[in-house]
Amino acid sequence: MSQQDACLRAPSVAATEIAGHAAHCRFCGLVLRHTFVDLGMSPLCQTHIELHQLNHMEPFYPLHVWVCHGCFLVQLEQYVAPAEIFSDYAYFSSFSDSWVEHARRYTEAMTQRFGLGRHSKVMEIASNDGYLLQHFVRAGIACLGIEPAANVAAAAVSKGIPTTVQFFGVAAAQRIAPEHGRPDLLLGNNVLAHVPDINDFVAGMKLLLGERGVITMEFPHLQQLMEQNQFDTIYHEHFSYLSFTTVERIFARHGLTLFDVEELPTHGGSLRIFARHANDASKSVTRNVVALRERELAKGFDRVETYSGFREQVLETKRKLLEFLIAAKRAGKTIVGYGAPGKGNTLLNYCGIRQDFLDYTVDRSPHKQGRYTPGTHIPILHPDVIAQTRPDYILLLPWNLEQELREKLAYVQAWGGKLVVPIPQLRVLSDR
Ligand SMILES: [Zn+2]
Repeated sequence: MSQQDACLRAPSVAATEIAGHAAHCRFCGLVLRHTFVDLGMSPLCQTHIELHQLNHMEPFYPLHVWVCHGCFLVQLEQYVAPAEIFSDYAYFSSFSDSWVEHARRYTEAMTQRFGLGRHSKVMEIASNDGYLLQHFVRAGIACLGIEPAANVAAAAVSKGIPTTVQFFGVAAAQRIAPEHGRPDLLLGNNVLAHVPDINDFVAGMKLLLGERGVITMEFPHLQQLMEQNQFDTIYHEHFSYLSFTTVERIFARHGLTLFDVEELPTHGGSLRIFARHANDASKSVTRNVVALRERELAKGFDRVETYSGFREQVLETKRKLLEFLIAAKRAGKTIVGYGAPGKGNTLLNYCGIRQDFLDYTVDRSPHKQGRYTPGTHIPILHPDVIAQTRPDYILLLPWNLEQELREKLAYVQAWGGKLVVPIPQLRVLSDR
């Protein structure tokens, strides 16, 4: 068969197989055949570029999300080593007041529910700068933070929170257990979705957890991502998009049982799961678990077709946003952005929004001011510039903060400025 014949036959074969490379499910190992959504090529969302880099090349990686037809894990392939992303991380959790408060309420609830005290031991995976463990330390409970980024771990240690610098998995658990013992509470917030080897990660937790211990994890819920059209929460650092049913399956394979679950409003809608050793009969499985499992089954999370409609939803959002922006520019209006969050990067790159639509965006973080958005090169300025330039429209990139920003930006009404929310669908907020 000539090379030309092979090319003519190509449409019947999955593109990944033609390239001699097939992506495999990171949980069950099946070859991935079903696209959830393909957002094209995008740069890493935290690489805000400096003035002198504007003429340089930038690495772009595919944002192609798959759904496994065996276990229904929605996932991105790993293109960038976690060490490259997380070793010198710029995100310090303590800079967000609402997140620290969320952590404080959590520590109180867990202390009460599981009777934690001076006899107990708590460990947190991806403990960041100690934003959460500080509350346990204050209560006299022995703690250990496990954090891969040395710079944020150093901030925790300086606050008196014992922290070990490592990526978590089986090897880390084998090092930690003999030295620090086994925790009564092992927790991790927004880390499960960010680990490339989810089997090694969950196996490590199984190994480390005390005999009667409890694991809690928080992660964005796939159901919310799909129903609320949150496709901009897809970025390279975020490898897995998790339903309750799939997480339950992953934990079960490693001898862990989910015995409770809570639904939280954080990050556009998250789950907090509670796990224990499968043979620990001291904690029975709650109604919440049964109810959520049944709800996901009723919604078809165990059928590949359920996932196939998402792509069209995303395309329609892009068309509506561009229609609005084009009409506004034709009418001679000025448009700027608010915020430079990771999700903004996905939205701007996928929709091809550059300075042709947004004159600039603003961000409170001094670390981002004076830089440019990755890939799209929109200047990031100080928020005060909005009052100076009086734009007609302000596109809110961190749409999850809509309530907070409505109040903070109420002053734009003085010149008839309007706020625009892109997700779940485009809305121009009317004056109150
Ligand atoms: Zn799978």
